[in-house]
Amino acid sequence: MTTNWAGNFTFSAARTAHPKSVDELRDVVRAAGSARVVGAGHSFSTIADTAGTLIDLDLMPEVFEVRDGSVRVGAGTRLARLADRLHAAGLALPAMPSLPHITIIGACATATHGSGDDIPSLASLVRSLDLVTADGSLLTLGRGDDGFDGAVVALGSLGVVVAVELDVVPTFDVEQRVYVDMPFDALVDNVAAVFSSAYSVSAFPTWRGVANVFTKRRTTDPLHDLTWTGARPATEPVHPVPGQPTRHCTAQLGVPGPWHERLPHFRADFTPSVGRELQSEYFVAREHAADALTALNGLADVITPVLLTSEVRTIAADAQWLSPVHDRSSVAFHFTWQPDDAAVRAVLRKVEAALSPWRPRPHWGKVFELADPGERYPGWARFAELRDRLDPDRTFRNPLVDGWFAR
Ligand SMILES: Cc1cc2nc3c(=O)[nH]c(=O)nc-3n(C[C@H](O)[C@H](O)[C@H](O)COP(=O)(O)OP(=O)(O)OC[C@H]3O[C@@H](n4cnc5c(N)ncnc54)[C@H](O)[C@@H]3O)c2cc1C
Repeated sequence: MTTNWAGNFTFSAARTAHPKSVDELRDVVRAAGSARVVGAGHSFSTIADTAGTLIDLDLMPEVFEVRDGSVRVGAGTRLARLADRLHAAGLALPAMPSLPHITIIGACATATHGSGDDIPSLASLVRSLDLVTADGSLLTLGRGDDGFDGAVVALGSLGVVVAVELDVVPTFDVEQRVYVDMPFDALVDNVAAVFSSAYSVSAFPTWRGVANVFTKRRTTDPLHDLTWTGARPATEPVHPVPGQPTRHCTAQLGVPGPWHERLPHFRADFTPSVGRELQSEYFVAREHAADALTALNGLADVITPVLLTSEVRTIAADAQWLSPVHDRSSVAFHFTWQPDDAAVRAVLRKVEAALSPWRPRPHWGKVFELADPGERYPGWARFAELRDRLDPDRTFRNPLVDGWFAR
């Protein structure tokens, strides 16, 4: 892998290793000096970069073991592959992000999430993980173990996760409906009702007076129509990014289908989103959703010149120390930007200032300007101690992450 998916940076690794077994991986780590693991390379920051050995688990043997209410899988498994196998076994993940192209551990390491008032991030589905640490040891940590709450959303900084055991549920069907042109004021005034109207809801405000709202309903749940807000039901498929091809999107218009073919916005066999873009996202406590929406709308003239799309989602609280939804049910404000780093960063500083009354936490895999992310996490110092314990010589060093911990 020479660049990340969006192509906004080039990896600086001296070499790439593709171990084919856990033993080979342990040898690679012991010999590396400095190393970092990459998943599918879909993060927008240099969080997976290293000047030493970039470890890619793409040649590791596949692991897929169904247990009682859980599944143990290879950490580098792509979500699309995992979802197909789970569905074939009559099982499902309760949560999916907008795309299935990424790896399960790359997603968990940055607290990747979808949307839903009661749906947690993927990291909170992890029951246990197997980690190769800097000295080449293999460590298994499970829920309740000392350090486990720091070990899943770990930003790639504790070692190489080789397998995870995940909570699963019986497979279920979902139908997706899009409501277009919801008046922005109706969204703000009824934000809790709109987001509780279906299992998973995403609102895409244009910051020009309206929002499109994607609803994903479990077919066994009642249908809560949103036309009372002034929105219209879409009569043809809608892409989250205006002007992009809708054949890249999962089926809409109320056609039922399995969870993994409806909860993500994008189909596994097509390019998600746009491709040449940057992304940012900020999480605040759910009760501030209306105020934060109003504050961002005040920046419409600043945001829209560099914007491709915006998405607002809700996420249930979790326990991971570095999760942006740690201990607070949250609403997240996402931005897909044009690929102009300098222009985007100037806008980010204004977005962060507008959200500052609510202590926003940034998405670790996207771009942000906040210099003090650690001050926003009660578990930051505990994570730093865990990192000192597991990686005292900083084998898994990374300038971006080290910068956050240096403050
Ligand atoms: C089009 C698009 C849509 C997106 N939609 C969403 C969304 O809906 N919700 C959301 O929350 N995010 C979203 N993201 C962001 C994305 O989910 C995260 O950036 C995620 O981390 C990418 O996973 P990856 O497999 O590419 O990991 P990478 O970007 O390759 O790595 C991410 C982190 O995981 C670490 N890591 C990777 N493998 C291992 C391992 N084996 N052991 C330990 N650490 C490891 C890396 O070192 C790095 O720190 C989107 C990104 C794109 C490009």
